[in-house]
Amino acid sequence: MEAPWKAGDTASAHCPHCGDIVAARYALRALRMPRSRLRVRDVLVEVCNGCEAVLNLPRQSMAQLREIGVGK
Ligand SMILES: [Zn+2]
Repeated sequence: MEAPWKAGDTASAHCPHCGDIVAARYALRALRMPRSRLRVRDVLVEVCNGCEAVLNLPRQSMAQLREIGVGK
């Protein structure tokens, strides 16, 4: 089981928008679910420091979404 991330943690990740490996950070964002009007607040996501794109949803956020029934 991987250690849970928390807001403010940093990592490097590949950003398709920047086209490079970038510095990224974990932050809480409101996510809009595809195919529904539901907005989920305070979901931990990995965000590119360069362009603010959401790069990744950590596993713990997947679990959070499943718990509220939108992460199928
Ligand atoms: Zn980027």
